[in-house]
Amino acid sequence: MDDLTDLYQEIILSHNRRPRNEGVLEACDCQAEGFNPLCGDRITVYASKDSEGCLEKVQFLGEGCAISRASASIMTLQLVGASVDEAHAKIADIAKLLTQEEEPKADLEVLGDLTALLGVRRFPARIKCATLAWHTLGSALRGEPKHEER
Ligand code: ZN
Repeated sequence: MDDLTDLYQEIILSHNRRPRNEGVLEACDCQAEGFNPLCGDRITVYASKDSEGCLEKVQFLGEGCAISRASASIMTLQLVGASVDEAHAKIADIAKLLTQEEEPKADLEVLGDLTALLGVRRFPARIKCATLAWHTLGSALRGEPKHEER
């Protein structure tokens, strides 16, 4: 179990050090600002859509803890190419995996770096750090300019 904790930490620290898709997306179709008052994490999420309405680019700008930034970085990689419905479904899935009582199966093959986020389950105070980027993107896709974790 400790090996797994190390692995989770390594993935999160690596995304925090070198986040993917960090930066303002000037030509975006939607954006939203997210805030997690529990930890002080702030993030802006940007998305652009292709002609089919699928997510073409997802970027973020974030100031916050390693978990919130790593989660945003992982999210941008996971949701490119998804339709808006698929993105909403995935956002709901992640929130459920992080909060459901039953221990989810951490399958590295299927979940990839998302597995690392599941390690946050053992630190309930940090779960909102992990869900912030996802919920903020959900707000952006619904046309809501702001999201606050509650
Ligand atoms: Zn945080």
